[in-house]
Amino acid sequence: MQKNKKTSVIANEKIDKVKLSDADEIILDLQSQLKKYINKGYGPFLAAIYDSNGRLIAHAANSVVNKSCSHNHAEMNAIKLEEKKLGTHDLSKYNLSIYVTSEPCMMCLGSIMWSGIRAIYYGVPSERVAKITGFDEGFKPEWFDEFKKRGITVYGQIETDAGEQVLQNYVTQGHTVYKPKRNYFARATRTIHKFLRRTICIRSEKI
Ligand SMILES: [Zn+2]
Repeated sequence: MQKNKKTSVIANEKIDKVKLSDADEIILDLQSQLKKYINKGYGPFLAAIYDSNGRLIAHAANSVVNKSCSHNHAEMNAIKLEEKKLGTHDLSKYNLSIYVTSEPCMMCLGSIMWSGIRAIYYGVPSERVAKITGFDEGFKPEWFDEFKKRGITVYGQIETDAGEQVLQNYVTQGHTVYKPKRNYFARATRTIHKFLRRTICIRSEKI
């Protein structure tokens, strides 16, 4: 993994200044547009697909809550739009890149891999999304290297200050966190305590 010390950007290839500069601009623009989507009831994530000439091809926000579908993450919505438009399930020959305001979740990573998209650029990393909002971002393997093996470029942690501010505002404004991260250890401890209390009570009754 490559790291840019100044900006904390990480990548699974040697960091290319031109790619990073384009990604900075696009992700800042997405973060700015995202505020408008949140005010209309969308979730706090936005994705855009660009072709190799820098043309915007598809653009979509997270619509899990307002469209009542757990699959409707921004990346999934953008990919579905694009595949429908091109009439294909395989985008690999189009040399497309996806830009996302936050790191894709496990479902979206799978979807990006299956779609044939060739590069991912994201803003806020999952651990910060979970910390700020409470969304359960799921577990992920060491996916940077796995994607590299499959010829998919990844740049992450781009313009995180702007992204974190949008997420913080989402929480402050009281919007829905529909899949909160649970503290499984605390829950397990509570269950054991409950069981012990019940067992002790039953034994006490017998006595
Ligand atoms: Zn997702």
